[in-house]
Amino acid sequence: MKQIQAIKGVKDVLPGESEAWQYIQKRARDIFHSFGYSEIVIPIIEFTELFSRSIGETTDIVEKEMYTFDDRDGRKITLRPEGTASVVRSYIEHNLRDLAPFSKLYYSGPMFRRERPQAGRYRQFYQIGAEVFGIGHYMMDAEILHMLTLLFDSLNISGVELQINSIGCPRCRPVFREALRTYFNDKRSELCDNCQRRFEINPLRILDCKSTHCHTLAEKAPKTTDHLCSDCLSHFNGVQESLDKAGVSFTSNPRLVRGLDYYTRTAFEFIGGSLGAQNAVAAGGRYDNLVEELGGPSTPAVGFSIGVERLLSLFNSGRVRRQYPPVFIVYLGDEAMQAAFSLLNRLHREGISSVMDYSGGSLRSQMRKADKLKSARVIIIGGDELEKGVVVLRDMEAKTQEEIPAAEIIARLKVTGKPGI
Ligand code: ATP
Ligand code: MG
Repeated sequence: MKQIQAIKGVKDVLPGESEAWQYIQKRARDIFHSFGYSEIVIPIIEFTELFSRSIGETTDIVEKEMYTFDDRDGRKITLRPEGTASVVRSYIEHNLRDLAPFSKLYYSGPMFRRERPQAGRYRQFYQIGAEVFGIGHYMMDAEILHMLTLLFDSLNISGVELQINSIGCPRCRPVFREALRTYFNDKRSELCDNCQRRFEINPLRILDCKSTHCHTLAEKAPKTTDHLCSDCLSHFNGVQESLDKAGVSFTSNPRLVRGLDYYTRTAFEFIGGSLGAQNAVAAGGRYDNLVEELGGPSTPAVGFSIGVERLLSLFNSGRVRRQYPPVFIVYLGDEAMQAAFSLLNRLHREGISSVMDYSGGSLRSQMRKADKLKSARVIIIGGDELEKGVVVLRDMEAKTQEEIPAAEIIARLKVTGKPGI
């Protein structure tokens, strides 16, 4: 029979890797909590229009990457390609603005985009992201970037470069858009097909094109920062000064625009030097108009999202030990099996990580299994032990063993604390 395999562009996170995955998540949560964020759990499915209205009709995501299907009642539903839109929807729907002067929220989970799968680019990938609502000050942008820098530091990840830019606001962006059109006008025929279309509908997108030729053509393009209105310019200067104050190093990249339409002012990316072509490990920016555009009260906001797979590939997971069940119970015979099962239940009630293999077999074959599972200790119960009211406790590393009164085994396992105990 033909074996069923995973869909192209999705991946399994197996034991051995999942420990590092959990470690990263925990680190991120701890740091987010220390900055005053609370978790928000958002749905994986939303009405399609949430994404088309927020991310933008003319973006790659909405034009060609969304997994959309008709629900049975005929409404269009999409597997979320990113988290911000849902967080904003939820913020508005539940009037979170009335509950607190500002809201700091984080989320994590899978996102779906039908992109061309390659290293660091998947069709189901994981993000950890955060959003701040109700603070428009430039120092908030710097605080977020400081938080991300601390996260990378705490994971011992070096060589990540923060690039920032300002992409202006609805007041100054039209001016920049026209400047771009003027610049690209005589280069139109050389642009890729996609960018020829972008030229008409959304010329900023050309700067974000992944084609190297378009990239070269854009090298001398006008800079967003030369076209900012005075408010956007002073915001951008404020962000840079605050980053200096916070001790966060960064470079300013006037070509940086984001693949989503809702951003205003600050846009940023963290670039991992060793990541190759898919080199952005985290990205985000300010989006002061999105809450209002989605029907909420005018609320400034700023946020980011980290690509977990890319973060993981920068992380030296050698530091995270795989967890093995430390105690394996071996039994010999039916009566011992009953006693072993009772003991296992007691260990579990005490929170001591332990396993047994119910298929029995010889002492040797069970010991081999314990060895394969890398258990630190084995408890052996046979007929003799039952009669004497003892168990044998074997230290698999030291290769020593001793008899212990059955009544004392739990206390004994607790004092000699080995991993997981
Ligand atoms: P890219 O420029 O690499 O396409 P993006 O601008 O589309 O990224 P965002 O939508 O800002 O990315 O998502 C934030 C982060 O999520 C990215 O910096 C990246 O680390 C990660 N990410 C985005 N798309 C994918 C994907 N298809 N597979 C794996 N990670 C992804
Ligand atoms: Mg993308």
